[in-house]
Amino acid sequence: MDYQLVRSKRKTLSLQISNNAELVVRAPNRLSVKKIEQFINEKSTWIDSKLRACEDKQVTKPKYKQGEMFLYLGDGYPLNIDLEKNTRLHFNGVNFNGVNFESSLASKAIFLDWYKAKFRQIALPRLDYYAKKYQLDYQQVRLKAQKTLWGSCSGANNINLNYLLIQAPMCVIDYVIVHELAHIKHKNHSKNFWDFVSQMLPNYKASKRWLQDNGHKLKNL
Ligand SMILES: [Zn+2]
Repeated sequence: MDYQLVRSKRKTLSLQISNNAELVVRAPNRLSVKKIEQFINEKSTWIDSKLRACEDKQVTKPKYKQGEMFLYLGDGYPLNIDLEKNTRLHFNGVNFNGVNFESSLASKAIFLDWYKAKFRQIALPRLDYYAKKYQLDYQQVRLKAQKTLWGSCSGANNINLNYLLIQAPMCVIDYVIVHELAHIKHKNHSKNFWDFVSQMLPNYKASKRWLQDNGHKLKNL
């Protein structure tokens, strides 16, 4: 196990997991490496669980390299870089193919275009479906990739939706759509608002929770 050793005049050993998921060992000046590593071994279960929790939270930016996983409708699919056709992105249900990998910035732009087009094709009909079913007339709808919001509904009933949501399971996309549509009737998060959301989407709580737990992964392109 790799670790960073910090010796000082202290009397006891201590272990710490740093913010970038590294093990830091603080030890007395004269304590032997053998004793230190014995201590690390004894604490290995604790260290493993701490490191894993830390790595789960740390999301690294994709490099758009061969085999890297990308999300679509809640599942991850590997990127297959096809040198023959390297301009556009093609999804075949098993993997993503043929991204332009000149730079990660160009690849990112291609992925964003693809996600936006899919959101338009797959998620927007859901907006129309719920709007018609519950007679909620929205004005304009805009699609944006945002860091902070999943959706919003203005006073004039213009709806913004974060198309990065196309990476999430369909029920989560439905939840955000229904949430914003519910704001056409209730411009707040009152009990009436949540009752209305629940009437349109009885299982919305699981989707709301999914977004709280996993949302950061969708914003990481
Ligand atoms: Zn809201």
